[in-house]
Amino acid sequence: MTPPGRNSRTLSGYVESLLDYPRWVIERDVDFSNCSYHGTFTASAEQCTSCQFGEACRWLSLGQLSATPDAPLAELLGALTTAADYLQVRYGDNHEDRCNCETCLWLRKVRRFLRTQRN
Ligand SMILES: [Zn+2]
Repeated sequence: MTPPGRNSRTLSGYVESLLDYPRWVIERDVDFSNCSYHGTFTASAEQCTSCQFGEACRWLSLGQLSATPDAPLAELLGALTTAADYLQVRYGDNHEDRCNCETCLWLRKVRRFLRTQRN
């Protein structure tokens, strides 16, 4: 085990800050008023896996885990990828390539960042 260096800490901090936006959007999107699990995603429950908010809810639960300062970078990047896919499907697909709304700007920034992390 190597101690976390300055770079990895900065990188994790950056990923954390990127996660703020989808966390806000998804929390706003998901309606828990009819949820018997009170928004706690339960992978074993059929109600959760077939729920229209299932993917977003699963991510929020994951996001709460990732909100700890020591979350591994791989986990944060996974959460970021899932969030980007969610926002793309739910909001991005109807937008033009050059759209400059907050979601599209976020998606482009995150896609670019994820590409640099993949190699
Ligand atoms: Zn847009």
